[in-house]
Amino acid sequence: METNKKISIVNKLLLRKYGLPPRNLSLPDPVDLLIATILSQNTNDNNSYRAYQNLKRKFKTWEEVASAKRTSIEKEIKIAGLGLQKSRAIKNFLISIKEKRDKISLEYLRQLSNEEALSDLTSYDGIGVKTASCVLLFALNRNICPVDTHVHRITNRIGLVKTTSPDKTFFSLNKNFPVEIAHQFHTNLIRHGREICKAQSPICKICPIVPICTFDQKDFSLKALNRKGNFMLLDNVGNT
Ligand code: SF4
Repeated sequence: METNKKISIVNKLLLRKYGLPPRNLSLPDPVDLLIATILSQNTNDNNSYRAYQNLKRKFKTWEEVASAKRTSIEKEIKIAGLGLQKSRAIKNFLISIKEKRDKISLEYLRQLSNEEALSDLTSYDGIGVKTASCVLLFALNRNICPVDTHVHRITNRIGLVKTTSPDKTFFSLNKNFPVEIAHQFHTNLIRHGREICKAQSPICKICPIVPICTFDQKDFSLKALNRKGNFMLLDNVGNT
């Protein structure tokens, strides 16, 4: 079966299980989204959201953040962890875009194709494919599916891709992604990874994708059953 057809089938199975993920009508500003995505790396949603709120409360504009001492940025985002790397990436990005574009805005991305926008964003130091693709999906409403550790693990288990890293998964998955379903597919797949297709013990017994999943170590015990509510930070950026 072609990959895009299989993606559509998986999407329908996820929709039946989790429903259509809610989405705010007004999309976040791309710079806000980019900073929030940097903060979300290697931490949970609540901590990255609090770090983002701290930053927005302390500084009135991104220009103020760009001219602030890196250590003051680090202090505000401490709760999200990796303070040194994240404050460096945020400051570097803000300074670079100001130098390159004369102002701190990513509005110009709206004129670019997906490939051009990805290539432009990843040319900034500290901005990887995942952060760039989150900006495209969540702020610019492009039909692009970002790949984090959950999406990488599950798409490999199901057999949608056969790759060794999230970035390779991203390029393979997005070659011919079915139209208009990237947001629901991405969001529901992350929820699926947190609730059912967990890294250590997937709960295959209650998984809606089991009929087409090719994973050869399916676990039909219920030992990892532990449902938790979902909270998608990147859909909440702009509502602080
Ligand atoms: S059947 Fe098991 S391994 Fe496959 S997607 Fe579902 S939970 Fe994951």
